[in-house]
Amino acid sequence: MTAQRQCVFRVLHGDVTHPSAEAVYEAAREEMETISLKTVYMILNELAEMGEIAALDLGTGTVRFDPNVDTTHHHLVCRSCGKVRDLALEFGGLKVPPGQSQGFEVRSAEVVFRGLCAQCRPTRPGPGPRAKSRHR
Ligand SMILES: [Zn+2]
Ligand SMILES: [Zn+2]
Repeated sequence: MTAQRQCVFRVLHGDVTHPSAEAVYEAAREEMETISLKTVYMILNELAEMGEIAALDLGTGTVRFDPNVDTTHHHLVCRSCGKVRDLALEFGGLKVPPGQSQGFEVRSAEVVFRGLCAQCRPTRPGPGPRAKSRHR
């Protein structure tokens, strides 16, 4: 179990793609053939509960796992392919004005910037299937 956990952690560490559990599983299996998807799910949930990694729902259809829990950051999300990247920016003005907090004591805020990544953005105006397939 410990070896499997280390394997999952190693796979995630330094990964900037914010992989899904399935993507972590694929990468982990290259190191450890016997690891199962169920085990990977379990380890990812454990690591998230321990605060070693973050489990993020960024609206891409799958939960994404982020090893970058030490620095406050925001995310760029491609609405076409679901690519996720870190955005190391601080938005100092991002505050809930007093009177609108509805009793909440706000501790943090995350901003998700949605758009199209370089691969999904057509290079010329008038996106067509041909323009898109050139980049695959
Ligand atoms: Zn994309
Ligand atoms: Zn991130």
